[in-house]
Amino acid sequence: MRQRLEEALRAANADYTEIRVEQVDSSWVHFKGRELDSVGSAKTSGGIVRALVRGGWGYAAFNDLDGLDNRVRQACESARLVGGVEQSRLAEVSPVVDRVSVALDEDFRHVPLSEKKTVIEEYNEIILGYHDKIETSHVAYSDRFRKVWFANSEGTFIEDERPDASLVLSATARDGDNVQQGFETVAGKAGFVIARGHHQKARAAARRAVDLLSAPPVAGGKYTVVINPKLAGVFAHEAFGHLSESDFLYENDRMKEIMVLGKRLGSDKLSIVDDGSIDGLRGTQKYDDEGVPTRKNELIKDGILVGRLHSRETAAKMGEHPTGNARAVGYRYEPIVRMTNTYIDSGDTPFEDMIRDIDLGLYALDMVGGQTAMEMFTFSAAYGYMIRNGEIAELVRDVVLTGNVFETMMHIDLVGDTLVFPPAGGGCGKGGQSPLPVGLGGPHVRILDVVVGGR
Ligand SMILES: [Zn+2]
Repeated sequence: MRQRLEEALRAANADYTEIRVEQVDSSWVHFKGRELDSVGSAKTSGGIVRALVRGGWGYAAFNDLDGLDNRVRQACESARLVGGVEQSRLAEVSPVVDRVSVALDEDFRHVPLSEKKTVIEEYNEIILGYHDKIETSHVAYSDRFRKVWFANSEGTFIEDERPDASLVLSATARDGDNVQQGFETVAGKAGFVIARGHHQKARAAARRAVDLLSAPPVAGGKYTVVINPKLAGVFAHEAFGHLSESDFLYENDRMKEIMVLGKRLGSDKLSIVDDGSIDGLRGTQKYDDEGVPTRKNELIKDGILVGRLHSRETAAKMGEHPTGNARAVGYRYEPIVRMTNTYIDSGDTPFEDMIRDIDLGLYALDMVGGQTAMEMFTFSAAYGYMIRNGEIAELVRDVVLTGNVFETMMHIDLVGDTLVFPPAGGGCGKGGQSPLPVGLGGPHVRILDVVVGGR
């Protein structure tokens, strides 16, 4: 493959050219209620050429390697048409030659679909049989093994294996018009072993859906809120992380004024990091899709904005260094600035000490939905507990947190001492590229004066 790509690159007549080729093996087993909604496997392959001529990008996608030289020429011609009008440049990086291979415990490519179905069906049966108020289930397993070859005209050649497996266990309970959900997630860069042994999680999802039927909606108001690690990770990614993506920043004058390096954006307890090099997490890759090594990138350190995420192009535009955050969701797409594994870093407060002095507050867990619009966010926690007189009290539902991300970050007064990376299913969407596997993490985090919607 290396020889094939390097030969094709010689057909290029551009300032910079790269070729990315992928082979993807995937399979899935989805149950909806009693029905096996979808089961199957697929093998796809293809690639994309990207060429830069006098600041203009040209692209040519392909499905097989026949005629690759022509694709390279086409990309160069397209680039020439926009060259001189566009002003793209690439920050310099050292060429890399590397081969990244993974050894999976129970490689999911070799596990028969029938075996996958048997395992997943057990979880589905547990959920459906848990209680007569369980109306339906959604149990979805999927895996994807991406093998990526990347070569560019600067001498970089990388062969990279990227496995990803996930399982979502979801239960829906109904009592008249009252419909509630409980779910648990498992996900990682792992083999099929990651999908085994989750009978307890299936029960937990069903139990929560049923318990929420009789839980009261939280009373709306302003509370001291403790968010769990998963919600902390969602906050780091959704509310703040996307604002750190420099392609977005570069095009947004107002955000550029706010996101000034060295400026205080949060309380001194708050540190936020994006790190694509943590072993085993869904957002982990040794190299990004421009062949730049991933690394630990501090975004906020003790409340101060200290970094942001870059591709080679945005790094050159802003006079900063590439951070290894140019990612493409698949071979049809160009790499754009994306997060990897984003987390709030741990502090020093044990969970008990966070709730001890709260007379009336809220403990919010996980997330079922939400939206952000610039610095405003609305997150629906999956469930919550009231905190009364320093102790966890009754289960509550309809927990909706809203606020301004910068005000909220200033209101963080305690950060937990234990950083965890709870499995995150689904993925991130941006610029029509979805779902991109990402990791989320954090400790428990305490925030003052949070507006909580409810009834
Ligand atoms: Zn996202």
